[in-house]
Amino acid sequence: MARGGFDLTATPDDLRSDPREGVRTEAGLVLGMAVSLDELTFDNRFTDDLPGDPMDLNEPRQVHNAAYSRVRPKATASPKLLAHSPEVLSDLGLDSRIAETDEFARVFSGNATLAAMEPYAMAYGGHQFGHWAGQLGDGRAIALGEIVTDDGARHMLQLKGAGPTPYSRRADGLAVLRSSVREFLCSEAMHHLGVPTTRALSLATTGDQVMRDMFYDGNPEWETGAVVCRVAPSFIRFGTFELPMSRDDNELLQALADHTISLHFPEITDGRTEGFEAADYVAWFREISKRTAEMIVHWQRVGFVHGVMNTDNMSIHGLTIDYGPYGWLEDYNPGWTPNTTDREYKRYRFGAQPHIGQWNCTQLANAIYPLVGDVEPLQEALETYVDVFNTDWRRMMGDKLGIAELDGERDTELIHDLLELLPKIETDMTLFFRGLANVSTDDGLDLDARVAPLLEAYYDPDTFTGDVRAETDAWLDRYIARLREEGRADANRSQAMNAVNPLFVLRNYVAQLAIDEADNGDPSLILELLDTLRTPYTEQPGRERFAEKRPEWARVRPGCSMLSCSS
Ligand code: AMP
Ligand code: MG
Repeated sequence: MARGGFDLTATPDDLRSDPREGVRTEAGLVLGMAVSLDELTFDNRFTDDLPGDPMDLNEPRQVHNAAYSRVRPKATASPKLLAHSPEVLSDLGLDSRIAETDEFARVFSGNATLAAMEPYAMAYGGHQFGHWAGQLGDGRAIALGEIVTDDGARHMLQLKGAGPTPYSRRADGLAVLRSSVREFLCSEAMHHLGVPTTRALSLATTGDQVMRDMFYDGNPEWETGAVVCRVAPSFIRFGTFELPMSRDDNELLQALADHTISLHFPEITDGRTEGFEAADYVAWFREISKRTAEMIVHWQRVGFVHGVMNTDNMSIHGLTIDYGPYGWLEDYNPGWTPNTTDREYKRYRFGAQPHIGQWNCTQLANAIYPLVGDVEPLQEALETYVDVFNTDWRRMMGDKLGIAELDGERDTELIHDLLELLPKIETDMTLFFRGLANVSTDDGLDLDARVAPLLEAYYDPDTFTGDVRAETDAWLDRYIARLREEGRADANRSQAMNAVNPLFVLRNYVAQLAIDEADNGDPSLILELLDTLRTPYTEQPGRERFAEKRPEWARVRPGCSMLSCSS
């Protein structure tokens, strides 16, 4: 992260609130919950508004002049529901008992479709690792349809791992249990952390075996097949617009943009649903840039590394999407990526995410250029990304440090000096910031007592000596002096810090433990983690083990320290 690159102008507010979330009315929660899936209201605007693939052939191929191909989920041998998210169920207006029905397990594993569903796979392209990759598309995702709930919110349901589509290229369209557990748990964990994200309704095993070469090293093995049902306002990506632009298909490009703006960004055009002009597309792009920057500030706050920030994995809504070889920073290391495919250049490392977000927005600007016809307004709108990121990032770091009113260059240095200090010895990011909340501003403490709350964060306490110890003491001098100047009571500051610095994140090794047990037929750890991650900022007696720093055995174990795209 560039030193001094981020400037502050705003004051902290509640990082956890997401103004884009639909408001859940009391009536929606308490009354009127559907007890049968047939009571859901579908309004399939994506397939209604946009041109579909005229060819009915489920074989890998290039699909032109169409936004999607109709395709049906593949029936599976013996579907079994392992877990579901009660919050997503309730957002959809469904009664909690419905998750126990056979119908639920059948529909959300792809073995039955409701009459009102219109399943399809979406066409899109993308830049992968900086290079244009041509047509990609939903190779193993099948959208079921769009639900509209009583509060007017739209929810697209999508099965991941439900079989091949015309976009599957040389792969099988399936997903395995390990990657599905990771997607299911992380989507919900991110939501509860206050990070904009797609959601996960359910996780089911299929009863089918799937062949995977986990490290692309010639050692394929049979693994348990699984399906996750994901939920989002839509799964439209940056790459959705890049594909028609790359083919000079302006008609499809405009139809996609008009659909997206009128349905998902009505505030941009004051509710106008057609006749959009260049300025409307620019305003829309500005909003996407803003949301993308906000999302990435949240990633940096909680230590999330997406791992595959290709433009096909960037949601038009600014939601975290496509949980593949993602990871969580354990020791604070801006150069870390969990993705073995990216091992050499580390393009998508933690510290590069802010810049990659901007690069991706630039690709989206290129994609919609034909609708605007002028570079300058798009260039100017792109600046929004930088402005929002800089402002929000500084405010977010101020919140992490418990400084209520950030003060110019002085605080910038305090923040950057800390971020340079943290990687000098292995320091657990999550535990460090929780510990920092317990640092006292009392002046009667000796140096050892003062630094004591931070010690748990160091992976090897013996390394916390010499220069690092001296620099930490010196930094604490400045930090505590700064806090005293603000004059907030320690208890108040600590409470505010603990509301933005999570205690529980989905540590890589903890997710792997849940996967190991699920592979052995026991999903109970998945359920316990799901529940723990519901209140990630709160201490939970009996669950301290999920907040512990990575044990030594996990340092080199696949799944805990490194992951591939093979899933
Ligand atoms: P990703 O970057 O992992 O999100 O995926 C890149 C592209 O590969 C997308 O078009 C995916 O749909 C496709 N893909 C990934 N895994 C599979 C699979 N097992 N079967 C078919 N397509 C896949
Ligand atoms: Mg993807």
